[in-house]
Amino acid sequence: MNNPYFNEEHNILRDQIKKFVDKEIVPYGEAWEEQGYVPRELLKKMGEVGLFGLMHEEKYGGSGMDIRAATVLAEELAQSTFGGVTVTALVHTNMASPHLALAGSAAQKEKYLPSIVAGEKITAICVTEPSAGSDVAGMKTRAVRDGNEWVINGSKMFITNGVYGDIYFVAAKTDPNAKSSRGISIFIVEKGTPGFSVGRSLKKHGWKCSDTAELFFEDVRIPAENLLGEENKGFYSIMKNFQHERIVLSAMAVSEAQKAIDITIENVKNRNAFGGTLWDKGVIREKMARAQTKVSVAQNYLHYVSWLDSQGSECIKEVSMLKGFACDIANEVMYDCMQFHGGMGFMSESPIERMYRDSRVLPVGGGATEIMYVEVAKRM
Ligand SMILES: Cc1cc2nc3c(=O)[nH]c(=O)nc-3n(C[C@H](O)[C@H](O)[C@H](O)COP(=O)(O)OP(=O)(O)OC[C@H]3O[C@@H](n4cnc5c(N)ncnc54)[C@H](O)[C@@H]3O)c2cc1C
Repeated sequence: MNNPYFNEEHNILRDQIKKFVDKEIVPYGEAWEEQGYVPRELLKKMGEVGLFGLMHEEKYGGSGMDIRAATVLAEELAQSTFGGVTVTALVHTNMASPHLALAGSAAQKEKYLPSIVAGEKITAICVTEPSAGSDVAGMKTRAVRDGNEWVINGSKMFITNGVYGDIYFVAAKTDPNAKSSRGISIFIVEKGTPGFSVGRSLKKHGWKCSDTAELFFEDVRIPAENLLGEENKGFYSIMKNFQHERIVLSAMAVSEAQKAIDITIENVKNRNAFGGTLWDKGVIREKMARAQTKVSVAQNYLHYVSWLDSQGSECIKEVSMLKGFACDIANEVMYDCMQFHGGMGFMSESPIERMYRDSRVLPVGGGATEIMYVEVAKRM
């Protein structure tokens, strides 16, 4: 039966991305994991075939679709099994560039969006700092107005696309005396601006081909027109954008968990022990059935929440429940899937070993599970 939350346009898109993933990502992912970054050629190809403009306006080269298209993108990229590739793309499409699309002036959008949609320029969103993550309002980076310029000082931590990106949307305090959330603004900072530097490329537990950086801002001077949206209203933009960020991360979690189940089913049906296949063993069948149930429930809720958002509904409680649940169950499922691969599951050459590592960050990034349930409880 057709999925009631998607239409024919989404189905065509899904098929198109599936083919792209099989041809352009799956054969090369291992090499990118080794080198520690996703090559720009891949990102340009993704731009050329329209994957970076799904939600951007047509006049900038985009397709003007809603969050359901981004959900399809995240689900299909996740099927590659390379979480690092998936997150590199999704940070660009649904976590960083939406700040420009939603709050940018016509001039800012004309200047930057066409190259962002084309994959010629890659974007990063810089909110987290060494001493402020979940508590966004606790950030210390400062931006001070000086004539026709803003001067930024501070540092950012764990920034995806931080090393190889081109355009950075940087949150900074512009009114340190305002009640914490009211004095934050967002700025466009281009790579190469004097005083802006990449401190470290961070080594990670998973997502090895996604680059993650610590960034420094030392008297970084940018033109006044690089303020994005209204001064001191940045916190609200960040909170608004979090909703789509959390939906695509949930889509990634659900789809990776489904892929892990598929890989594991194939393994246990082909592996012989004690006079039959592993699949013949009741304990394994039951565990896999439980895993499938959790993933199917999460996937249905993901599709429903994507649809709800596409109808213009404010669904913070639903998005928070989805993110908390989907990212947690992805980890539970990965644990069992790795277990049923036996010793081979512990070997770096098996995809499940990488998927298990990659999934660990999902309940942390983009709003940790604990914070998701704080948001849910606030609305109960
Ligand atoms: C690989 C990776 C990529 C990332 N990419 C980006 C990026 O591109 N841009 C960006 O800005 N950030 C990025 N982040 C940062 C990410 O969003 C933060 O790590 C996340 O928000 C958690 O913040 P924190 O690490 O400071 O942990 P903390 O905020 O210090 O939290 C630590 C733990 O305490 C819990 N906790 C915190 N507050 C509460 C509370 N009130 N009640 C109960 N529990 C609580 C948290 O849930 C968490 O489990 C990335 C992180 C990683 C690991």
